[in-house]
Parts: sequence; structure tokens; C-alpha cells
Amino acid sequence: MVIMVPVLFRQYSQYLREKYGETVYRIGVDGGFSCPNRGSDRNAPGCAYCDVYGVRAAYLGEETQSLEAQILRSIAVLKKRYKAETYILYFQAYSSTWGSVSHLKKIYDHGLSLGNFVELVVSTRPDCINEKIADLLGSYVRPNFDVWVELGLQSAQEETLKRINRGHSVEQFERAYHLLRAVGVKIAVHLIFGLPGEDRDLIMKSVDYLASLKPEAVKFHNLHIPTGSPLYAEYEAGELSFPDSGRHIHYVVDALERIPEETIIMRMTTDTPRLRHRVPGVFLNKSSTYEQVQAELERRGSRQGSQYHPNRV
Ligand code: SF4
Repeated sequence: MVIMVPVLFRQYSQYLREKYGETVYRIGVDGGFSCPNRGSDRNAPGCAYCDVYGVRAAYLGEETQSLEAQILRSIAVLKKRYKAETYILYFQAYSSTWGSVSHLKKIYDHGLSLGNFVELVVSTRPDCINEKIADLLGSYVRPNFDVWVELGLQSAQEETLKRINRGHSVEQFERAYHLLRAVGVKIAVHLIFGLPGEDRDLIMKSVDYLASLKPEAVKFHNLHIPTGSPLYAEYEAGELSFPDSGRHIHYVVDALERIPEETIIMRMTTDTPRLRHRVPGVFLNKSSTYEQVQAELERRGSRQGSQYHPNRV
């Protein structure tokens, strides 16, 4: 007899299946935005770990197609491969709220008109959210239509944010967070584990800070450096080290124990396209990471939220 061990953390895929009763597919698009760090030139230097592709999905390739072409192509592929019917529109690349409200509305409306979308997801940075933009995002929220913002924090340590040239503060993050909360937008916060100067204690401080805010979801990334990023030069000069897969698994498990059990885990590792991904050269893929995290939680007799304390910060 096979004994099924329950998954010990709240998986995003499971959340979507429970919510929609079917598999829904994310379509990641490049809405043509840049970000305040790079300004009008997408090739300008940005965050220390970011290359010129500004976190575009691998399957978009290096050339930016029209929004319509990106969406229709993805829908055609997903329909053929999985008989997909229902989708989430995900503005993934760069800072997808960096623009005037009228421009953003035009782009979001256009994207949403091109498929059977049940959610809008917008990835951005804290200094690209103000009251008007939060209101715009909130205007799309309906009883059967969720709006999510993926908000990059990366670290809750001001020193680290300066070190990696993020160009925003923790205070700006918190302001954006509460603006979005006030209009009913769901929030997924990104953290990177292994940033320069951060040991386990500092990483867990950021995790505890995040846990105290109780976002609906989190994404945990391991630090990795594409060749075109400013940190790559430091790596080549022998000035950087990275957590290996084993240490990253321990960071993730420690973090899971400290965040609320209802927080959705959207990601636990980074998957930059192989061609751009330079260091660390070998790292666990997504499914192996999930398996090892589950195994470590089982080994500890632990689970997500087992060490969550609302007032730890
Ligand atoms: S990580 Fe985001 S904000 Fe930073 S440079 Fe890249 S696209 Fe810009």
C-alpha cells in the first residue's frame, strides 16, 4: 500500500486547481515597458543581478513581438498541447506599471480583450505604484476576476537594496503594498536568497518582515547571475559566492516554516533561460527543488507556518 504524504506547503498550482476546478495557464507577456532603473533605454544598467532582458519569459525569445502576436501565439500553443481553455494574463517583463495611467489602461485592456482570461497579473517594482495606478488596477477586480501584483522587494535590508542598486527603499515597498491592499489587489512578493552580504540571519529577517505583512503569495528566488548583469563582473573578479542548491533548499524550508500556512508559494527557485544563465552553472530545476523541499520538511517533521509568529518583527 502506498502512503500518500500531504504536500507540506501551499503550492500555487494546487491553489489554482482548487479555485478554478481546472488547470488554468499563465501567459507571460512583454508589454513593451522599461523600468525606472533603466529609463527609456532598456539596455542601460539596472539592478545588479538583472541583464538587458529584464526578466522576460524564456519562451518570448529575444525579439519583442506585438502584444497581440505574443498572446495569440501562446494561446494557440497551449490549446494544441494541453487543450487549454482558460488563461491568466501575466505582464511579466520589466516594470509593467511604469507608464501613465491612460497608457497602462490601454495596454491592459488590449491584452485582456485577446483571450479568455480569468486573472490579470502585473509584475512591477514598488516605486512604480502610486494611488492612481493602484486605483486603475483595483478597477479590474471583480467577484470572479482577480488582479494580482507581483511586487519585487528582493530584500528588506536597506543596505542590501543599495548594494544591488534596486533604487527603492523598504518604506516605498510598504507604501505600495498598502495602496494595493486598499483596492483589493492580491499581492505576491519576490525575495532573492543569497544576495551579496546576506547570511541566513539577514535573509530570515526579510522573511519575517514579509510574514508580518501576510501577502497572499511569495516567490523565493536563488541568486543567479546572467552574463550581462553588473554582478557578473564582480563574480569574474572572484568577489562573489553563491549558495549552492543544498543551502538554498535549507533557506527555503526555514522561510516556509516562518510564513503563514495560507500564503501561496508561487516559486522556490529561479529559471533564467539556459543561454543567459551563467552562474551558478548547475542548479536544481523547479520540480527537483519542490521534491527536495518537501523531503526536508518531512525529515524535520515540519510544515509551512510551523514557526510563524505574527509579532516576530
Ligand atoms: S530587475 Fe526589474 S527593476 Fe531591476 S533592472 Fe531589471 S527590469 Fe529593471
